[in-house]
Amino acid sequence: PKNDNIQVYIKDRLFHRNEAKISVFDSAVQGGDAVWEGLRVYPEGIVCLDKHLTRLHESAKTLAFVDIPSKTEIKKAIKQTLDANGMNDDTHIRLTLTRGEKITSGMDPRLNQSGSCLIVLAEWKPLVYDNKSGIKVISSSQRRNAPQFLDSKIHHNNLLNNIIAKIQANVAGKDAGLMLDERGFVAELNGSNVFMVKNNTVYTPFAHACLPGITRNTVIDLCKNNGVKIKEADLSLSEFINAEGAFATGTMGELTPMVEIDGRDVNRDCVLMDKVLMLFKDNIKGLCESVN
Ligand code: PMP
Repeated sequence: PKNDNIQVYIKDRLFHRNEAKISVFDSAVQGGDAVWEGLRVYPEGIVCLDKHLTRLHESAKTLAFVDIPSKTEIKKAIKQTLDANGMNDDTHIRLTLTRGEKITSGMDPRLNQSGSCLIVLAEWKPLVYDNKSGIKVISSSQRRNAPQFLDSKIHHNNLLNNIIAKIQANVAGKDAGLMLDERGFVAELNGSNVFMVKNNTVYTPFAHACLPGITRNTVIDLCKNNGVKIKEADLSLSEFINAEGAFATGTMGELTPMVEIDGRDVNRDCVLMDKVLMLFKDNIKGLCESVN
């Protein structure tokens, strides 16, 4: 009920959620032709805001969007939205930039008439996972996009393979789908990155076939700066199942142990994993940036 009366920012102004609509001619409807970011709001500010805006800009530039709003303009839109809704904590922002409205149906970017369309959808939301009990996952038959098909560095709205993986997890009664890359190595979960611990070292898959998550990056930096051995590697399902500890990372769930993979319990009693989880907890508020 808290979100029943929220205001949503579209293009250049706020709308009540019931009136927050984009055109059927918008590129997002016509071809999933949009990029996005998920942001987390705390009283101290927005976690890694500048990095999220950089990734949004890089994704939009790669896809040759035109009339892309500047970081300053996006921050202004975010501030306006948060202020209108009285939000400063426990809030998730879904930031979307579509290529914009077209003059007729079709996928050709030249049909776009009015430049890109910014959407700031802010809602009160707790973290998506209970970090204490951890999550149970299944390995999905749906492969994560390989870079030769769609560059995983682009944070785009073509989410269908992730959605198929999530459907498989739902059908199995688990929390998330663990996606492999086209070679069969672990890539990521359907909406978060993955790490594991073995021989006193923290490992994460190379970012070839996963989103180079901002939380993933934060964890890598925290390990490097605190004397924790961290490596990127090709990692198999068996290595994750038999890890000393495994966890997922993402803005919406932060750090969450993976306690089960394909019905096998994954070890949870891992001092090094607990240390990384604690490092993240201790440092996250320092990563918040104000929009003022
Ligand atoms: N992988 C996928 C497929 C995602 O959608 C997300 C969240 N946008 C992540 C990983 C985590 O990225 P981040 O840490 O930047 O939120």
